[in-house]
Amino acid sequence: MARYTGPVCRLCRREGTKLYLKGEKCYTDKCPVVRRPFPPGQHGQARRKLSEYGVQLREKQKLRRTYGVLEGQFRRYLDKASRKTGVTGTTLLQLLERRLDNVVYRMGFASSRAEARQLVRHGHFTVNGRKVDIPSFSTRPGDVIAVRESSRDKGRFKEVRESAPRGVPAWLEVDRPALKGTVVRLPSREEIDVPVQEHLVIELYSR
Ligand code: SF4
Repeated sequence: MARYTGPVCRLCRREGTKLYLKGEKCYTDKCPVVRRPFPPGQHGQARRKLSEYGVQLREKQKLRRTYGVLEGQFRRYLDKASRKTGVTGTTLLQLLERRLDNVVYRMGFASSRAEARQLVRHGHFTVNGRKVDIPSFSTRPGDVIAVRESSRDKGRFKEVRESAPRGVPAWLEVDRPALKGTVVRLPSREEIDVPVQEHLVIELYSR
């Protein structure tokens, strides 16, 4: 599956907010959003008023970039969300949160979604005891995500076992020493800490 491989800090600067794409660096004062709080490029510092379309587009890009999803796949998530009952924007966010790479990140087994994606791709995780190496795999309540037996002694996971636990959202349960966790339920909107106004994204696609 194709993905964006360019410099990610530019994406945060473009959106004018931290998207937490780089792991530990995002929590330090080296973060370029703090150091250079204006969009990248030659005209980054020019004053510009965004149109209504522009505002909606920026919200959509922010969401897509946060989860590392390309346009085609993002549209498929949106189609799926609009076919389900409930608030489309919330359902869209839940679909994105249920992705295996996001769940691995939220459980604290990786420092960023990009790292989680790579770890999943390299086959280090199982879902309900079976190896799954598809980052977009959609987890369900009750699923048990674990580091594979053969990967447990790798340096990365030793670090995870020994490091202080990061805040894990209430919809997930993590057993850090055992390197496994469970999806207890789907997250509510309030539990998804992504700074996006999802109704603007829905409006963009209903034009
Ligand atoms: Fe974004 Fe993190 Fe880079 Fe800061 S350090 S600009 S939050 S990816």
